[in-house]
Amino acid sequence: MNKKEKIIDRAIGLSGAKTSMTEPCASCGEKCCNRFAVPITGFDMLRIMRRLDCEPDEFCELDEAKYIQSAPHSTVFIFDKHGQMSERLLILKRLKTNYCIFSRHSNGCAIWGYHPMACKAYPFAFVGKEADGTDKIGYTRNFVCPRLWQKGEYDEGKVRQVLDAMEMEMAEHNRIVREWNATRSKDGDEKGFFKFLIGQSGKKMALWEKKERPDTQKMPSLGPKRGYM
Ligand code: SF4
Ligand code: SF4
Repeated sequence: MNKKEKIIDRAIGLSGAKTSMTEPCASCGEKCCNRFAVPITGFDMLRIMRRLDCEPDEFCELDEAKYIQSAPHSTVFIFDKHGQMSERLLILKRLKTNYCIFSRHSNGCAIWGYHPMACKAYPFAFVGKEADGTDKIGYTRNFVCPRLWQKGEYDEGKVRQVLDAMEMEMAEHNRIVREWNATRSKDGDEKGFFKFLIGQSGKKMALWEKKERPDTQKMPSLGPKRGYM
């Protein structure tokens, strides 16, 4: 069994026979799970690591940004290897079929519940303001998700909660990206990068957990002997 198969096996073992994906997504064939590269933040990465007790390189990778079609909110990490610059995105690994590593096709997502914020929010986004000043929810309709979402087909309160949480995590993730790009990108390697990201995101996550940010899932801490710690 290779690394990818092992991590899928572990995720399926934890998620059970079927996920709790609801309609209309349950019967759509997960089109969005096989078209886009899924951009993740350090917080998404930590949640998956903790739940699956695994290393980041078992399920995510840093891919060259110019080759990736992904959701627009992603931010690029710069690597400057002896003057050779590359811009990379942190994404979930994909299979040769282009499906996300955690996709179980008609059985849904193997990491449902701790899947990345970008997946939780898709296809919804804040698209401006309502007359009363609250953020307006809209959705992207394209070849990936051609659905015309009607009110009542989704839980607006839940979507708003996810979008708020995602905005907060993205703002913090962007700060971490800027710090990497300003201070560590020169001759930084992937191992150093993951160590940096785990350290920075872990510190913020611990603060959120202490202050009991209402939507922060309490997660077991990372074991002491991890390769990247
Ligand atoms: S968001 Fe759209 S493309 Fe993705 S599973 Fe749901 S209906 Fe399908
Ligand atoms: S993590 Fe789950 S929801 Fe997100 S793309 Fe992969 S299979 Fe789909």
